[in-house]
Formats: sequence, structure tokens, C-alpha cells
Amino acid sequence: MAANTSRQKVLVFRELPPDQLARLQAQHEVTVANPRVPGQLPAFHAALASAAGMIGSSYPINEALLAHAPQLKVISSVSVGVDNYALSALAARGILLCHTPGVLTETTADTIFSLIMASSRRLVELASHVREGRWTRNIGEELFGWDVHGKTLGILGFGRIGQAVARRAALGFGMPVLYHSRRALDLATALPELAGKATHMPLDELLRRADIVAAVLPLSAETRGLMGAREFGLMKPGAIFINGARGAIVQEDALLHALDHGTLRAAGLDVFATEPLPMDSPLRTHPKVTALPHIGSATFETRHAMAVLATSNLLQALAGERPAAVFNLETAAI
Ligand code: NAP
Repeated sequence: MAANTSRQKVLVFRELPPDQLARLQAQHEVTVANPRVPGQLPAFHAALASAAGMIGSSYPINEALLAHAPQLKVISSVSVGVDNYALSALAARGILLCHTPGVLTETTADTIFSLIMASSRRLVELASHVREGRWTRNIGEELFGWDVHGKTLGILGFGRIGQAVARRAALGFGMPVLYHSRRALDLATALPELAGKATHMPLDELLRRADIVAAVLPLSAETRGLMGAREFGLMKPGAIFINGARGAIVQEDALLHALDHGTLRAAGLDVFATEPLPMDSPLRTHPKVTALPHIGSATFETRHAMAVLATSNLLQALAGERPAAVFNLETAAI
């Protein structure tokens, strides 16, 4: 990309904090149109036709949509996961895709660990007993939870967030950690604090050995539907499954079957195949499920940090500079 100081057209497709919107408006012509908000879809489509840059998240930017964006040079996603974007179509046109790695790592690991705690100790279920006036006597063992400390945690995906979950588990809760990823890490050099505390292994072996399995890997052609009936069937009797990655890595029918007819103790889910979770989804009210509305990174501090990084990425790209966090540098026309 050549250096460019001219005002260009920017489409904001999910609301940004006012200070970051103002940064964009100071330099470019900005349209805010969230296609998920009733009534804003026509404005979104209209702005797409002349947009040089887009910024937002949680909306699939597929090949058909890209065909209506002939001027597009850069998409800045306010997320670390890039499963909403048609990567091959972006590559074919040299469109830059930026994302927000790193700034949400610790917060998302906190969320995943909260789900581990909530699912094991039945926190949401038992808090509702108090709230609904059902705490009328000392609780009996039918409401007891399951210890977290000392349990073996299996982590699917051992990148930034997986490692942050592992640190909480191994260093804070004395949990042996097993992890599955395509490459094993040399922990002694890459992560000395986890050396001797985390072990790489194939998926099936991890599922057979872990008490709690937490998924935090990207959604891709390889990981779509990764957890199905066979995989849930390999898990230890009484084990817990946590999904902090993307809903589509799980075959939800198979998860429900494992909860209802198998030996799975509980599931803690932040993400679902369809979001928001449809009202008729059995996962919404299942007694063994703790369901969250995709809040992995949803704190004031982290959502703002993500917006700052995404805005900077977009401004840099439109200025013809290399942005701080590019996902597809190898195919981008920069
Ligand atoms: P990352 O640093 O890129 O880590 C991804 C990890 O997954 C790596 O260890 C990678 O190792 C592994 N992996 C990738 N493909 C795999 C495969 N086919 N089989 C096994 N392992 C595989 O990413 P991150 O920042 O930790 O984020 C991970 C994901 O979390 C994101 O893509 C996003 O979908 C999700 N996320 C969710 C929320 C939420 O709100 N719930 C928030 C943030 C992120 P190898 O390359 O060696 O396989």
C-alpha cells in the first residue's frame, strides 16, 4: 500500500466507543451501520459499496458480501478469532485482515476459569436457590459440587489464551495440565513457569485422561465439529466440558446427548453454534449447563483495549503503513 493521507470511506459495522469513533472521524468519512440492528442493514449494504475500510465484529463477512465491496482494502476485526471472514476471498483480492490478539488474553482466560469454577461448584444453580428463596435448610449432598483444585485440566488449543488458562490452573489451583495443539512446545524455553506442569498429547489421550476439558482453539475447517459423539464418549465418566472458543467446534446434539444419556457431569459454555442462543435451544435451560452470552472478553477495560487496537490497525492500514496486528500478512497487498 502506498502512503495515503486522503480521507477515505470507513464502514463501522459494530458500535465503537466514542473516543475511538472520534479518532476515525477525524481522518476519514465514517458510516456506522450495524447489520444486526433492525433497520440498519440497508445502510450497511449502501456503505459497503464504497468502503475502503471496515471495522467491527460478530458478523459474517462472506464472499458474497465482499463482492459488493469493490473498493475494500482492509477489514479490522475487533476480535482475535477470524472465523467470520472469508479468508480465501480476502487473499484473492489482497485485502488486509487485522485482529486484536493479546489484549484480550487474560480476560478471556478469566472467563474460562470462571466457567470451570461455576460448572464444578454449581455456582449459578446454587446462587439461584438463594435468589429464589429455596435455601430453607442446610444443603445436602444432592447439591454438593466437585473440587477444582488438584483435578487434571485438558486444554484444547495452547496459544495465548490456552496458556493463560494453564497458568491459572497449574500455578493457582495445583492442577496437572494436559494440552492438545498441532505442535508441542518446548516449555523449558517457551514457558518455563509451566515446565513440568503441562504435557502435550494427542486429542484422544487428553480426552481419556482429563477431569475437565476446556476448548480454546480457533474455529477452522479442521476444528469445526471437533467435539462430537465419539469425542464426548472418550471423556472420563463424570468429567466436565468447557467451551471458550467458538460454538461450531462442538456438535451440540452430541453434547446434549452426552449430558442426558452419557456420563458428562456438566458443561460450561460461553459460545454457541448460533448466537444469540435461540430461545428453543435445550442448552439454554439445561440443568447441567452453565451458559454465558459470549462474554469471553467483555469487560470495560478489555473491550476498550480491543477497540483501541482495532482502530489503530485500521488507521495504519488506510495510511499505507503496516498495522500492529495483521492476521493475513502473507496474502495482503501491503
Ligand atoms: P492463538 O494464540 O492463535 O492460539 C490458538 C491455539 O490453537 C494454538 O495453540 C494452536 O496451536 C492451536 N490450534 C490451532 N488449530 C488447531 C487444530 N486444528 N488442532 C489443535 N490445535 C490447534 O489464539 P488465542 O488468542 O489463544 O485465541 C484462541 C481462540 O479463542 C480464538 O481463535 C477465538 O476463536 C477464541 N476466543 C474466544 C473468546 C470468547 O469470547 N469466548 C475470546 C477470545 C478468543 P497449533 O498451531 O500448534 O495447532
